[in-house]
Parts: sequence; C-alpha cells; structure tokens
Amino acid sequence: MTSIAMGGVSKYFDAGETVANYRLTLEVVDGEFLVFLGPSGCGKTTALRLIAGLEQPSEGAIYFDNERVDGRSPSSRNVAMVFQNYALYPHMTVAENIGYPLRVRGVPPDERDRKVEAVTTLLHIEDQVEKKPAALSGGQRQRVALARAIIREPSVFLLDEPLSNLDAKLRQEMRIELKRLQNELDITTVYVTHNQEEAMSMADRVVVMNQGTIQQVAPPQELYERPRTAWVARFIGSPPMNLFEGTRQNGSIDFGEAGAVELDSVVRAGETDDPVDTTPPEDGTTASVVTSDVQGEVALGVRPEDLTITTSRPTTGNVIEGRVDTVEPLGEYVLVNVTVNDQLVNAKLADGTVSRDERVYLTFDNDDAYLYDENGELVG
Ligand code: ATP
Repeated sequence: MTSIAMGGVSKYFDAGETVANYRLTLEVVDGEFLVFLGPSGCGKTTALRLIAGLEQPSEGAIYFDNERVDGRSPSSRNVAMVFQNYALYPHMTVAENIGYPLRVRGVPPDERDRKVEAVTTLLHIEDQVEKKPAALSGGQRQRVALARAIIREPSVFLLDEPLSNLDAKLRQEMRIELKRLQNELDITTVYVTHNQEEAMSMADRVVVMNQGTIQQVAPPQELYERPRTAWVARFIGSPPMNLFEGTRQNGSIDFGEAGAVELDSVVRAGETDDPVDTTPPEDGTTASVVTSDVQGEVALGVRPEDLTITTSRPTTGNVIEGRVDTVEPLGEYVLVNVTVNDQLVNAKLADGTVSRDERVYLTFDNDDAYLYDENGELVG
C-alpha cells in the first residue's frame, strides 16, 4: 500500500515555453482510485508520467509514503503503467506476454505459470492464453495489458486512457471490471481520462485539470453538486451547467431583455474552500456566503435538469425569458436549446411541448441555483 503526494510540482518543456503542469499539490491516499480529468492538452499525462518517474519535475517534490522519489528512476518506484495502446509483444502468446515481467525478474517457470493462471482467471481470459495478441479483440487485449500490470504486484497502478480504444459497450463493461479489480486488489490507482463518465463512475476522487493547473479535487457527487469554479461548472454534466451571464445591480441580477432575478432569492449558504487546499473536505465544514461582496458581472448557474419551461409568463419565482432554438427528442428526455440574450442554454424536459422560435420562460428553484463572481469563483 502506498500513498502519493505532490507538492508544488511544475513541469515545463521547450525551455519554459510550454507549461504542462503548474504547481500541482495533491495527495493520493492509500488504496484510493484517483482520476485526472480534463480536456486534451491540460497536462494529465504529464502528471502521470511525473508520478511514474518517466519525467522529472521542473519544480516541486513527489513523495511515495512520505519518502521523496523525484529524481529516482521508474523501476525504483514499483509502479505499473497501462497505456491506451496496450503495448503488447506481438510475437508472444498471451501467457508469455503476461508472464514477461516475472521472466525478466528471474522468477522460476513453475511459479510464473501459477501466477499467470491466477491473474488470467481474475480477468476472465484463461481461455485465451495460447493466442497471440493479433487474434484477440480490443477488450481482450486490454485485459492482457492489465494482467501484465497486475502480475508485477505493483504498489501503484498508473493508467493512461486505457479504455479509449474500446467501443462504448465494452468501455462500460471494462469500467465496471476495473472498479471491481481495484476494489479487490486495493492498490493505489491514478487514472487519466478526458471522458467524464469514466471519471465519475470509477473515481473515489476526481482531479479536474485545466491548462496545467488543478481546478478542483472532489468525490464525483460533490463535483457535480458543488463545482467550485465556473470553469468546472461548464465542464461537468452532460450537457453541463448553464451559466446565465448578468450584472449585479441593487440586490438583483439583471439579464437585460431576458429579465432579472432577486439576488437574495438565489444565493444560498454555501461551503467555501481554500482555493489551494486540495485535501478531501471534511464533512460539515460550511460557512455562510458574504453576498454583499458579489459585485458587477456575475454568472448564475442552473443545470439543464433543474430548469422548467413554460410558454406563459409565471407570476412568481425566478423567471428568465428566451426563445426556443432547437428541440432534440433523445428518448429518455427532450433537450431544448433556448436562446437567452445571445447565449444558448439547455433544458432537459420530460416531454417537448415547445416548438422552434416559441417565446418561453425558464424557471428554477432557489436551491438549484449557483452564483459565480466575475473571477469565476463560486460564491453562493
Ligand atoms: P491528451 O488528453 O491530449 O493526452 P493531456 O492532458 O494528457 O492531453 P499532456 O500530454 O500532459 O496533456 O500535455 C500537456 C502539455 O504539455 C501540452 O501542451 C503538450 O503539448 C505539452 N507536452 C507534453 N509532453 C511534452 C514534451 N515531451 N515536449 C514538449 N511539450 C510537451
């Protein structure tokens, strides 16, 4: 069992021109399944390679179990990495591929065979052991790559987009399998993906990254319920949260021609976090929001599933006016795109009784609204 800590870790390339990671401070607890999530190029892979020892930090320190490891070789860290492309040896059978790390270590053939059998059974590929990788499906190859990582009995698993070559159905199956395996083996795991569903379904905690920096570290549910920045709010959810851009004026938020809502009615007591504190939040640490500090440009956030649409103007509550742009019947729900001022927002409805170009009124409960200040920080 191993815990990992990163303290102010930055990684620059091209003589400082490219900032891949900037001041990452983070702790991965023993046995945790931690997922780095973010758009392409945000620095997820670099962070993983730094933990593996395949890259060395430009600044900062990395610890395994409180022992400093930056500067040390990957082999001294006892990590196993699984990549998107599996990297199997084509001329070896499945059994030989999986047993290879043990062969390199000089483990005797008998013991090797026993361990290969155990791990192939664990991954349900015991019938495939005589095949070469070319004769396997994508999902089977992925299992072989995982088996080859598991057989080494590493202290840490590092997985870089391991499911992205699989089709949607197989990806979902492997997600469940990976989660089961990680629970069973109880090995500290760091997983990189740009796929939100993957991150949310498997992670104990998600590290949301943007442009080399950490935006938020939180368990999936908390990330959804309390995105700390407007950037995270726009990133999490499918479709993500709507952010109505308005101006705070005399105790209300003004949305121009789309209307206005009372500021006090939408601002709730929220929790506050130290922006640089990335440790898991302790339960019950709440603080009231000082709403008087919210000035000027603000964004009011409401998730598509929390918006209601009416065609006649409601007489009470929070009302924002718009015009229907498109109606997409998606089976499970109807996605209605509404133009509010020059912004396009989404509403998820049980049925689509509105039509294109119709004038509509969006309403929402106070409890479902979020307020972000002009710096994009959650204030209520
Ligand atoms: P993706 O999801 O597309 O793989 P990522 O979030 O994993 O992206 P990284 O691969 O970590 O992002 O890259 C972060 C930034 O660092 C990018 O701008 C990338 O071009 C740059 N970068 C990464 N490795 C190197 C390198 N060896 N030399 C120069 N620049 C690099």
